[in-house]
Amino acid sequence: MYKRVLLKLSGEALASDSGIFSREVLEDVAAQIKTVVEDGIEVAIVVGGGNFVRGRMADELGIDRTQVDSMGMLGTVINALAIQGALEAQGVPTRVQTAIDMIKVAEPYIPRRAVRHLEKGRVVVFGAGTGSAFFSTDTTAALRASEIKADVILMAKNGVDGVYDSDPRVNPNAKRYESLSYKEVLQQELAVMDSTATSMCMDNDIDLIVFNMNEKNNIIKAARGEATATRVAREV
Ligand code: UDP
Repeated sequence: MYKRVLLKLSGEALASDSGIFSREVLEDVAAQIKTVVEDGIEVAIVVGGGNFVRGRMADELGIDRTQVDSMGMLGTVINALAIQGALEAQGVPTRVQTAIDMIKVAEPYIPRRAVRHLEKGRVVVFGAGTGSAFFSTDTTAALRASEIKADVILMAKNGVDGVYDSDPRVNPNAKRYESLSYKEVLQQELAVMDSTATSMCMDNDIDLIVFNMNEKNNIIKAARGEATATRVAREV
């Protein structure tokens, strides 16, 4: 049983086909997180911003990469506030902390304070990524998990229930790994997360559970260690 988990949600996970946000998804994610908190597990969340913009769109937009990264980080703050709103609508006390100060809407990121919130049973959502361009929210998840000493990162994927030896959407014979070391992920260039995030998890000995958040109640199952998933760790 985990004591403290860091849930990584991508921005796209909150979106619908027609819009930036899906009410249905926000309510479902919030309800599941509520159950995890009621299970007695401390929950921190890092949220992405891919439903708004990603740094890799810089060329397409004709805008400098650092500028687009700033836009991306601000997108994650909007997502963090959406998650906070959805959680508080269900009575779950939640704090947002941002790596870029914007004290009118959220607390600044203060690790000790984040830990205190978690100990009090509050959910903490980290927005604005690392606060630096050229990083991803996967790296943010690795960093924050290390800083708050989370037991595990629960990496929610859309439509894929773990790490495969080839793309399961292309190759029907693709095989899912039960467990895998970070070294194997790096050597085989498996698309789990970017290499900066992978190295950070490896160096700081953080376990990662890659699971499909499109399966019913899978956030709850992942937090209980019951989801069909791939476990990535330093040693397996
Ligand atoms: N970003 C950044 N620094 C960070 C985290 C994020 O510059 O520490 C920017 C980057 O442009 C990234 C975007 O914010 O593409 C959105 O984050 P990400 O792509 O990780 O979101 P996700 O794919 O998880 O929705």
